[in-house]
This record gives sequence, structure tokens and C-alpha cells, in this order.
Amino acid sequence: MKVARLASLLIVGSIGLALPAEVPAPKDIPFQGTLKISVDATDVAHRVFRVKETIPAAPGPLTLLYPQWLPGNHSPSGPISKLAGLVVTANGQSLPWTRDPLNVYAFHVEVPVGASGVEVAFQYLSPQSGREGRIVMTPEMLNLQWNANTLYPAGYYSRRITTEASVTFPAGWQFGTALDVASRSGDTVTFKPISYDDLVDSPIYAGLYFRRVDLDPGAKAGVFMDIVADAPKFLEITPEQLQIHRNLVQQIYKLYGAHHYDHYDFLFSLSNKMGGNGLEHHRSSEDGVGTGYFTEWGMSAMVRDLLPHEFNHSWDGKYRRPADLWTPNFNVPMQDSLLWVYEGQTQFWGNVMAARSGLWTADQTRDMFAMVAATYDKGRPGLATWRALQDTTNDPIIAQRSPLPYRNYQASEDYYTGGEMIWLEVDAKLRELTKGARSIDDFAKAFFGMGNGEWAANIYTFEDVVKTLDGIAPFGWADYLRSRLDGHGPLIGGIEAHGWKLVYTDEPTAAVKAMEGFMGSANLTYSLGISPGKAGELGDVLWDSPAFKAGLAPGMILVAVNGREYNAAALKEAVTAAKSGKEPIELLVKNFDEFKTVRIDYHDGLKYPHLVRDATKPDTLGDLFKAR
Ligand SMILES: [Zn+2]
Repeated sequence: MKVARLASLLIVGSIGLALPAEVPAPKDIPFQGTLKISVDATDVAHRVFRVKETIPAAPGPLTLLYPQWLPGNHSPSGPISKLAGLVVTANGQSLPWTRDPLNVYAFHVEVPVGASGVEVAFQYLSPQSGREGRIVMTPEMLNLQWNANTLYPAGYYSRRITTEASVTFPAGWQFGTALDVASRSGDTVTFKPISYDDLVDSPIYAGLYFRRVDLDPGAKAGVFMDIVADAPKFLEITPEQLQIHRNLVQQIYKLYGAHHYDHYDFLFSLSNKMGGNGLEHHRSSEDGVGTGYFTEWGMSAMVRDLLPHEFNHSWDGKYRRPADLWTPNFNVPMQDSLLWVYEGQTQFWGNVMAARSGLWTADQTRDMFAMVAATYDKGRPGLATWRALQDTTNDPIIAQRSPLPYRNYQASEDYYTGGEMIWLEVDAKLRELTKGARSIDDFAKAFFGMGNGEWAANIYTFEDVVKTLDGIAPFGWADYLRSRLDGHGPLIGGIEAHGWKLVYTDEPTAAVKAMEGFMGSANLTYSLGISPGKAGELGDVLWDSPAFKAGLAPGMILVAVNGREYNAAALKEAVTAAKSGKEPIELLVKNFDEFKTVRIDYHDGLKYPHLVRDATKPDTLGDLFKAR
């Protein structure tokens, strides 16, 4: 379809309402020429990326787009507020630009007669503190994301735009990326031409302290960990840790039997300065955790499902892509209806692969499943009352991970772990229907494991998911899935069908103990309905819990417990003591500048979720977690 264009601002009527030029819709036609991009990433002192681009274009109106809808974020979260200093020129002559008032990610310019395109210069300003967003440049490392560091022409499918990118790094820094190097000159690296789609899908991590680890020695399609760290000592990896990460690659190959890249790089930052990250790509992932991932191994258990999760996305999310999530460029809105597959099944495999590879023990994995199961048993009153899991797939667009007043009641991105619970139940159902002959492993291979070596997106619909499940074990899968996605029941059927029961006892699991110890917090979600931090500050307060009913709300600070200064241990002792008494637990609470006494009439003691065996059924959870 042809798109009508207005040459420039059009004055409509006597009130002088200005209509902007239209933003041309993307078309599946070849882009003439090559979009050339050079990024100067050397100004780590100011945390500023300096971008120059040469964009071929015919004389006339031209609309340049800053990517708005980001894959992996599933939301209109392109960091437009960090773009500054935009200057557009042609043949050395400055061109005025106009930002589209109805689409602030679009910039209109007029290419003069005689010019073959425009030169664009701007800066991308890294957040300087966490308040402004995720810090992507420190004295020791940087994370270059092409979506943040480029403008591209409207009017084309972004896969039809060929790009040639180069980056100048701080002197002596090394880098990791899925991009292939064409040439080097000093600290400037030029990458081989690649489509704009694949460029945006291929970020760079660079650092002063760098280590590249081979996770699949001798493989034709290599898998590497490119690690940057705040200091060299954090790059130490024991032989056991190396083996476990190599196991991950082999276990996921056994699951899918095919892969969708020519090489894969985990871009892995170990930093307390650069912002943490977990963002999937086809041939790489951006993975950011604290400095002690390897060197304080005992403390890093909670984040050890990150690499399996992001690796799994190369199959689930990047290669197999929900049809309504696929878009022709980065400024067309996405629809997130199938994120319970994209993120839900990836959350499931992230945890299961952590177990199969040895990143987690079977006990640790069960503890994680106990925490998730408790969330969908008692921890999401919003899903039990007003909101369905399906509706939470809209949350990347609604909330964009901003803090929420009542997270548990509002529900947010629950398609991750709620989806995980649904897939656990699907696994048990497949085993039941086939008398143990088939399982979710068969679904994974059939749905994600085709087309070895291909890496164009292979799209699917809800009906395709149902069809593949039916091919493994015929059943009323559509109704089965819809009742869980659209209903309000607890999502813990998979735990029970796998031969385990969710129970609550007064002993925390090792995982909860570790978290409480690390944060200095008290996890009383399933008893009082609060998890106060070290200084007694309240985050989420469980809707309609004893604490909620007594008048506690997020943001309040617990000052004293039964007349004594607050600390986590004192609060737990008070909960335990109240079990054998009739007196309420008395809390002195600070609310803004007001102090008040709150009495919680609660006598059921501490409650922490656990999984215990149901001896009447076989333990198929153990089989699920076992290495293949
Ligand atoms: Zn994910």
C-alpha cells in the first residue's frame, strides 16, 4: 500500500493546528545503499557514546526513527530520553529537523536536491546513576546496545536495511559480541555488513578486564562466555564451574537436537557498577550479575538460572517467535499475548536446565519450585480475584517494570513464573496421557528443535502450540490451556501431579534462609503477609493478609515489636510466641512523620513453603531434573 506523505508541516484551519509529516509505514523492499554507523565509546569519564551515521536517502522528505519497541523488553521502552545533541547535515550543510509530536521517536528532515543522503550525529548518554536507568558505562566496562546508538530510516522492513558499523573502544579494552569482525585499526573495530535487525540483535560488552571462555571446545558452531568484570580477580573460574557451564550447552543440545546460530556468545558482566541485565538475542545474550558469581559461588545460587534462561531464548523467543510479537521494524507496536510461552516456558527450562547442568542441585531446584508454587497458591490474591494470567502479558507495556504500589494484588509479569507452573502441569499431563512414554522434552524438541542452523524468525500462534501438543498426546489442550490462562484458580496442579505436595512449615528452606541472611530481611509473606527489610521498611504487603487487615501498607517502617526495637529476629520470635498466646503482636510503625501502634491478631506461627513427597504417586519431578 502506498503511504500518503505531506512535504512538511501543514497548517490546518485558522487555529493554526500543525500536522506533522506522516511517518512512512515499513515496506518489504530493499534499502538502497548501506547505513554506516560509527560509535566513539571512549568517553568513559562522562559515560557518553558519540554516534555518527551516514544514511543514504533520495532528495525529499526523510523520517529517521529511534527504536521504540525493543525485542526482549516486549515494550515501547527505547531510551529516547537519553538521546542528545542531534545534528543532521547534508553536503556539509546543516538541516533543520522536527520531532514528530505524535510519535516522539520520529524525526523529520528534508533531504536537499543534489544530496545522496544525510549525516547524523548525536550522543547517547548512559544513565549516570541507577535512578536514571541502567548504567551502561563504567571506568572498567561498557555495554553498547545498537538500538540506543542508532537512528534508522522509516519506510523499510528493518531486515532489508544493510548496515556497516564500527566502534572505537577505550585503549586496550577487549570485547565480546555476536558480530563478525571485518577489520581493526588500533582500538577501532569495523564489523562485517549485517542487516539492521541483526545489528540491533547483536550488542557488545567491552571491558578493561576481559576473559573469553570456550564452552563447547571443537564445536563447529562455538559457544563462548565473554566475561567483563570490575577487577581481574572476579574472572577466576574453577574447573568445576567451567564443567557445569559446559554441561549447560550439552544438556540444552540434548533437549532440542538443533540450534539456531552460527556461534553463540554469552556477554557476561560481573559488576557492582554497571546495571544488571538479562536480555536475549539470537546469537548472544546480555547477562549482568554482581562481581561474586564465580568467586562467591555459595552466594550466587539465586542468579544461576540466568544463563540457562537467556540461552533458552535463542530457541524460544528469538527463533520461534509469537506471530503477534514479530514486527517489521522497531517502531511498530508489538502484541504480547504469547509471552506465557516465550517467557513462561523459558522460565521453566531455565530452572530445569539449571538442575540438569548442575548449576543447582535437585534440592535447590525443588526449593525454587516451592517458592514459585506458593506464589500461585497464596501469593497473588489479584490473580485469584480480578486479573487472569493472560492479561498479565500486557504488563511489559502497562508497567514497564516500574515499581508498583501493591505488586501481589495488581499482578504484573506473572506469565513468567505462572507460565512456568502451567508448563510443569503440561509435563505431568503428557506423562499421564502416554503412561510415562512422552514428556515436555518431546514438546520442546518438536516445537523448537527444527531447522538446524537457521536463524530467521519462525513464527507461531496459539493454535500451533495446541497442534504440537496434540501430536505428542491427543487431548483437549486448547481448553486445558485456556482454563489456566483465563481462570482464577491456583496454578499448582503440576506439583501434585509430579508426586509432591506444597506444605507450609515454620522452617525456611535453604534458599529463603540465604536470601534473608543476604538482605537482613524477614520473609513473613505467608504468615503476617509482609517481608520487612533490614531497617523494618515494608515493600509489598499481601492484600487481605493479617498485616494488611491490621492497617499496614507499603512504605511504612516497623520501628518496634512488642515494645522493643525492630529487627528481623525479634519479629520472628514475636510471631512464634504469639502462637501459644492470645495477645496480638504489637508493632510501632512509622507512616510518613506519624508513629502509630498496630496490633496484628495472628496466632498461626511462621510459615514457609516446602515441597514434600506424596508417597501415593511416583516422583516424576526427580526425573524432570535429572541430567539427560
Ligand atoms: Zn526471558
